[in-house]
Amino acid sequence: MRAAVLDAPATSLVIDDITIADPGPGQVLVRVHHCGICHSDLTVIDSPSTTAVPVVLGHEATGVVEAVGAGVTRVAPGDPVVISPMPACGQCYYCTRNQPTLCAAAITFSGLFPDGTSPLSRGAALVYRGLGVGGFAEHALIDQNAAVRIPPDVPLDVASVIGCALQTGVGAVLNTARVEAGATVLVMGLGGIGISIVQGARVAGASRIIVSDPVSSRRDAASDFGATDVLDPTADDVVARSYELTGGIGVDYAFDAAGSVALVKQGLFATRNGGTTVMVGAPSASESLSIEPAVFLLATEKRLIGCLFGSCHSQRDVPKIIGLWRQGRIDLERMITARRPLSDINLGLDDLRASRGLRTVLSC
Ligand SMILES: [Zn+2]
Ligand SMILES: [Zn+2]
Repeated sequence: MRAAVLDAPATSLVIDDITIADPGPGQVLVRVHHCGICHSDLTVIDSPSTTAVPVVLGHEATGVVEAVGAGVTRVAPGDPVVISPMPACGQCYYCTRNQPTLCAAAITFSGLFPDGTSPLSRGAALVYRGLGVGGFAEHALIDQNAAVRIPPDVPLDVASVIGCALQTGVGAVLNTARVEAGATVLVMGLGGIGISIVQGARVAGASRIIVSDPVSSRRDAASDFGATDVLDPTADDVVARSYELTGGIGVDYAFDAAGSVALVKQGLFATRNGGTTVMVGAPSASESLSIEPAVFLLATEKRLIGCLFGSCHSQRDVPKIIGLWRQGRIDLERMITARRPLSDINLGLDDLRASRGLRTVLSC
């Protein structure tokens, strides 16, 4: 099959012919129709420390089930599906405590199935399936728990952005932070994830959704998606403005959607005493955060919490997001700002590097 392969860190992807295995027990082969390009893909591609290569990335995919292995009960050939990059087993220590992303984390980041194998190969060489899906390809082989069946009337291109952006952003608000109606929210960074956090805050009934991003087109987009107050961090003092806009109290919740340690710290300053800062974006693994815990944690009872993939259980949250979309409470269509064939994937990555648009969705 055709796939976009990363052969070495910080190089262009190459469209190549690779082999994908037949589905084994509990596995599902999906003909991928669409896959969005997410910032996490770009982070892996551009990081000099990426060592699990060659790799097929892409983790925001939809498609149609083509074949199933023995014992598969969740889906059947012909079913349209959203592919979850973080399938939960449902039975482990974490799953039984409603922390499904912690179950899946080890699986997703290794580029291999739990048994240490990959279904992808080129000649005699193993090819990794990056970030749990390998969606920049004509086919993907996934665990049946990663196959979330969706109604046949939901367009597969529109549904693809649910796979990562919407689950991560809406989940960060509803699952991780549990923002209550009337709360005040600050969102720092307005790419696909940040805009999805804005959408989640609107669903939660936040009374004030303050957003901050240096790119003017992204600030404009955030206003269209429900932001109430728009800040330019190159011109505005985000912390001071957050206090002004909340009657001198500070925001109840701050979300870092850019994976920036500096923004996490800004969130700790901008939140009120007892408020919550949520780290949604992924900083590089080598960065560290320095704070004065006596001030930020003890005396002010502020909270700083991590958020992996919106704390989502995809079998629960994908149908929930589709339901909100049907009610007109979540906008999926306008998240997609470019559509390209798989062969133009490097152009889509360049758009992301230059902060052009919110989401490029590939046709595979
Ligand atoms: Zn589990
Ligand atoms: Zn993603």
